[in-house]
Amino acid sequence: MIKDLRPPFVRLNDFNPDELFKDLKTPCYVIDEKGLIYDGEILKRVSEESGARILLAQKAFSNFNLYNVIEPYIYGTEASGLYEARLGREEMPNKEVHVFCAAYRDDEIDEVISYADHIIFNSINQLKKFGSRVKEAGKEVGVRINPEYSTQPGHEIYDPCSSGSRLGITIADFKDNMTPELLGLLDGIHFHTLCQQNSDDLEATLNVVIEKFGSYFKDLKWINFGGGHHITRFDYDIDRLIRCIKLVKDKYNVEVYLEPGEAVVLNAGFLLTRVLDTFNKNGQKFAIVDTSAACHFPDVIEMPFLPPLYKADLESNNIDYRIGCPTCLTGDVIGNYKFDSDLKENEMLIFGDMALYTTCKNNTFNGMPLPDIYVLHNDNSIEKLTSFGYNDFKYRLGKMN
Ligand SMILES: *Cc1c(COP(=O)(O)O)cnc(C)c1O
Repeated sequence: MIKDLRPPFVRLNDFNPDELFKDLKTPCYVIDEKGLIYDGEILKRVSEESGARILLAQKAFSNFNLYNVIEPYIYGTEASGLYEARLGREEMPNKEVHVFCAAYRDDEIDEVISYADHIIFNSINQLKKFGSRVKEAGKEVGVRINPEYSTQPGHEIYDPCSSGSRLGITIADFKDNMTPELLGLLDGIHFHTLCQQNSDDLEATLNVVIEKFGSYFKDLKWINFGGGHHITRFDYDIDRLIRCIKLVKDKYNVEVYLEPGEAVVLNAGFLLTRVLDTFNKNGQKFAIVDTSAACHFPDVIEMPFLPPLYKADLESNNIDYRIGCPTCLTGDVIGNYKFDSDLKENEMLIFGDMALYTTCKNNTFNGMPLPDIYVLHNDNSIEKLTSFGYNDFKYRLGKMN
């Protein structure tokens, strides 16, 4: 077994993965409790040293059976709409629930309000329509602003500050349409502009936010810095983040919220798959595995990025394989990896960093099965959380007899 000490795989040094995982049916996700605790400890340090309140953005991870592991480290949950708000209220009932949605529905807003502590609106029109209802229910109101300051050029799909973005109220719109009466409804301001970024980009963004919107901050209770802070990544500058939080807390006498998704569960899960076939084509070795990037971890194709693969050391190994998936989509390829020996049929491959944007984003395109979900507990025991079969594919498509 080759030692691989990159962060996603440190955990595998605790046991022999070939042995521990050998009876698991693939494909499957294995959520790593120790990884969650590792990330949680870092977030707790940030909260303690800065006074910030950190929320789990559930769209990145909503495996509620693990909420009890995460809960001691965070202040609450963040939701993208009704269902996630309800999940946060049900599964972390003693913590705050915050919701941001680009537009709320008339027939859902009252239920959303019933679960939420903070409701954040994306437009002045929605604030006008629903703001006083939120206040009457005794809940807090915020709006999302757009500082129009992009720190991730060339990455439009994940950049709320890209031109043409529908997300957040611009300063021009804010000045023209935020009447004193509407301003009086606001308890807080929310901005979310980052994606997998370090605190230097937060600091630069914050300067622009303050310069453009700071004059409106004096009567607020809180400012929410959104998500996209890669806080638990090994090279993240935590001290700079803490300085940013303290600056805002002191200058405006507000609470500061952060709502990371990725950082809460970074490197806290694996996806196990087995090799179905190998072949050579035009000088390239291929392996087809029993998982699909398009179905089981679509960010690999959307972002795109190369997920970490255990034992596939791109520097020291030399046998290059293109790892692809069984579906019909030509682009359903995970990537090229280097191994020290040829791959064999039924061999298990272990992808790392598979807790985020996976279990809550998968689909059954091509009739691909949904991977079962396991948890790897702190003591290295494994527990199955849920499993899926043909009916999970079929029931979404029509009337079942
Ligand atoms: C996506 C999102 C988050 C979480 O983002 P991560 O990149 O997973 O940290 C938080 N808040 C809002 C409004 C988001 O859209």
